[in-house]
Amino acid sequence: MSSFLSGIERDPLDTDFIRMTFRSFVQRGILIIMVVNPLHAILLWLNQSHWWQFSLLAMIVQLPLYPLCARQRSFAVFLPSVLVLFATVTAYLILFSEHFGSLAGFHYLAMALIPLVIFAGRIGLKLKVLICLMMAVGMFVYELEIRGSANSPLSAEALKQLRVLNLLICFVTISLLTFTHFVTVSQIQSELQRLAAYDPLTQLVNRRRMEQLAEQAILLSWRQKYPLSVILADVDNFKMINDRHGHPVGDAALRHISDLILMIARDSDSCCRWGGEEFLILLPHTDLSGAMQVAERIRAEVAAATLQTPDVALEMQLTLGVAMLMPKEQLVDLIKRADTALYEGKKAGRNCVVKSDPQPS
Ligand code: GH3
Ligand code: MG
Ligand code: MG
Repeated sequence: MSSFLSGIERDPLDTDFIRMTFRSFVQRGILIIMVVNPLHAILLWLNQSHWWQFSLLAMIVQLPLYPLCARQRSFAVFLPSVLVLFATVTAYLILFSEHFGSLAGFHYLAMALIPLVIFAGRIGLKLKVLICLMMAVGMFVYELEIRGSANSPLSAEALKQLRVLNLLICFVTISLLTFTHFVTVSQIQSELQRLAAYDPLTQLVNRRRMEQLAEQAILLSWRQKYPLSVILADVDNFKMINDRHGHPVGDAALRHISDLILMIARDSDSCCRWGGEEFLILLPHTDLSGAMQVAERIRAEVAAATLQTPDVALEMQLTLGVAMLMPKEQLVDLIKRADTALYEGKKAGRNCVVKSDPQPS
């Protein structure tokens, strides 16, 4: 098995996500077969063909494959199951097409396998293209081989019914599989965007997202000529909190401070975990004195709100640096000024708010 697996070309787009979703696609495919085959059986039975039994037999053979393709199954179980599934579906389509002729349209159903081939994780891109090409060639060769009407055991009317049913199944299956794929990809996409933008500990915006938000806000502030300020806050002696009470308490302290900052900030402000125990708050439409007031409120609130953990009552303090955007100033320079002000606050004894006085331009 392992030598066979190593022969499979690894798709550069192959990810855990693709693999997991592929398994649910295969399972959905099996469920679709559980509907399709009885439909075939009913139509054949109504048209006095004994082949309805083979339709049901194929269904019974494929049903046990459903649990074997589940996510929790190892690849060593999944691979043979999916190969058996493809082999039985292909055999079914070839046998039924041979028996009833091309006008019955069983070969159209091969098209419904295309999404499964394309969504498969462990098949290389070239192999996917090759399989799809082979299916297309087989389909056209069969389509052009006009032998269905002459030898088929079914009447022209029954063949038409089967053809319409098979086309309908093909349409519904492809739509269902691609639609569910679209929904899954959209969900994963929005989850990835959330993960890329937020800090998992505090749920505040992370540094990367903050830089984007701040760049946009600065452009708007220049264009619409309104003031914009930033507050950079740093927890005082945070290392001591970690050292004395342990990292989990330190984490709880960071969450506690984030909650307080979020409570004081306006909806139009952006609050970010800038670094380990540093927070950056972006305040559009706020001048230096307005930002100083917000910073002072945050400082006072954090100093006053004791964090009660099961083991310890924790008192914390912040030092904050405040800066207002100057004309033509870049984000990096604005934050540097806030950082310098913060550093001055640390030197001055901590637990205070220091502003960066704008230099005349
Ligand atoms: P100062 O008042 O000068 O800012 O001193 P400080 O101790 O707060 O600053 P220092 O830079 O020496 O230490 C910051 C500490 O923050 C060290 C680091 O282990 C801790 N820290 C950073 N990120 C996290 C985190 O996610 N969780 C916890 N628990 N601690 C963190
Ligand atoms: Mg720090
Ligand atoms: Mg600190």
